[in-house]
Amino acid sequence: DEINRNFAITNTFYMINILHDIYFNLGFDEKAGNFQDINYTNEGKGNDSVVVLNYNFPSDDNSLYPIPRITLGYYNRTGEERSSGLDNSVLIHEYSHLVYEAATRIANEPAGHPVFCNYGFIPRGIQEGTVDFFAELFQYKKSNNRNDLYTVGKYVKAIRAVPITSDMSINNLKYSDIRYRGGMEYEKETENDNYFFGNVWATMLHEALYNL
Ligand SMILES: [Zn+2]
Repeated sequence: DEINRNFAITNTFYMINILHDIYFNLGFDEKAGNFQDINYTNEGKGNDSVVVLNYNFPSDDNSLYPIPRITLGYYNRTGEERSSGLDNSVLIHEYSHLVYEAATRIANEPAGHPVFCNYGFIPRGIQEGTVDFFAELFQYKKSNNRNDLYTVGKYVKAIRAVPITSDMSINNLKYSDIRYRGGMEYEKETENDNYFFGNVWATMLHEALYNL
């Protein structure tokens, strides 16, 4: 309804803005192309603020070209209608995709292949896993335990194969598991392979976090 719609849009606006500021503090500044209409330092290019569209999309998606854009899905899988605009893990995941792609865009622009190092099963999987991990990391609380279960998009859909946890009775993924999927070649790449490898990669980053 109208109230929930405004709630989702307000939460989306707040989260995307705070994510912009968090990434700024981590080094994604104007010079790095941090999605602002106006660059006050005159470094980097402006006119690239992120447009986020909420409601009436079949699933969550993002793209850097022609303008930075996020579309948020509207799900009914849980028996009630839910917008991704109310799931902060999805907002962190999608915004982090744009930051990740912008970072690799800078690295590759001179070669004329704007996002070349993001093509293929392994780079896509690493990207999916990394942005899932940022969602876990940015919502980290001191009371968290490594054996807690963490799933991106749990509120709206929970599409990952297994939750992120150190509890191997629930998540026993190992790096060697990706060999058995037969998806190592570009032409065999599918969305599911990307997310499966991402699941493995996010689990590895989770282990690294709790072993710091
Ligand atoms: Zn993703």
